[in-house]
Amino acid sequence: MLAKKQFGQNFITDKNLIAKIVSLLGEDKNQLIIEIGPGQGALTRLLIEKYQKVVAIEIDKDLEEILKTKFNSDNFELIMGDVLDFDLTSFLNNIKNSYNRVSIISNLPYYITSEIIFKTFYNCDKLEKAIFMTQKEVAQRITALVGENNYNNLSVAAELFSTKKYEFTVKKQMFNPIPKVDSAIISLDFQNQKFKMPISDKKVINEMTRQLFNNRRKTIYNNLGTYLGDKPKALKILQNLEIDPQKRPEVISSDEYVRIFENIRR
Ligand code: SAM
Repeated sequence: MLAKKQFGQNFITDKNLIAKIVSLLGEDKNQLIIEIGPGQGALTRLLIEKYQKVVAIEIDKDLEEILKTKFNSDNFELIMGDVLDFDLTSFLNNIKNSYNRVSIISNLPYYITSEIIFKTFYNCDKLEKAIFMTQKEVAQRITALVGENNYNNLSVAAELFSTKKYEFTVKKQMFNPIPKVDSAIISLDFQNQKFKMPISDKKVINEMTRQLFNNRRKTIYNNLGTYLGDKPKALKILQNLEIDPQKRPEVISSDEYVRIFENIRR
């Protein structure tokens, strides 16, 4: 079957690589694993062997029969559709308490990497961890620390809602077809979240940080002033929090972004 570019299809086949990725989910059998984009089932086969239940969500109708024929075991469920339309919140509410842990794994379709990661963060209170393959550069951004060049709103979100880790690089030659750039595996562990907040607040803080990183060359004062449409208010908030208004967005810590968010709401 020809890979479809519009669905971001780059398949993996190497058994050692597959085992290395899946091992990051841990050895507890009593887990429900949600796989986004099973493709031709490279990871799916091992997931079904290792874990109690696997629910896979795939958009490409041409893969439906292939997957159903390959995997007809009771612990596999295939949901055909766009993961961005999938109601993950209701799904997780309905299955709660049936499994020790629920985790997500995906060799992500790169064209919707951020959307899927944010969707995961919005539901991370009910998840154990997420193992994602992304483009290497994106993995570096997500796992960047404050003060590093590539620290951005995704790095902040990952820090607020998870313990993030750059696991390992995957050379582009490991994929079929071979993409333009290397990839990497990251893990996001949701057991010790720094900040617990409702989904509505997570959405607001993510949108705020996205806009505050809009213009990285400008100061936090300038960016916050633009976001609020009120420069004097921006200055007052930063002074209240004892954050130097001349600092750039990439040197503001995730704790400070939370304090800015809380201060705006007061
Ligand atoms: N898991 C397979 C592997 O590792 O070989 C395939 C990974 S491939 C990078 C991404 C997969 O996500 C493809 O199977 C693609 O059809 C699927 N996909 C793309 N967009 C999707 C969407 N919006 N919803 C669900 N699946 C999607």
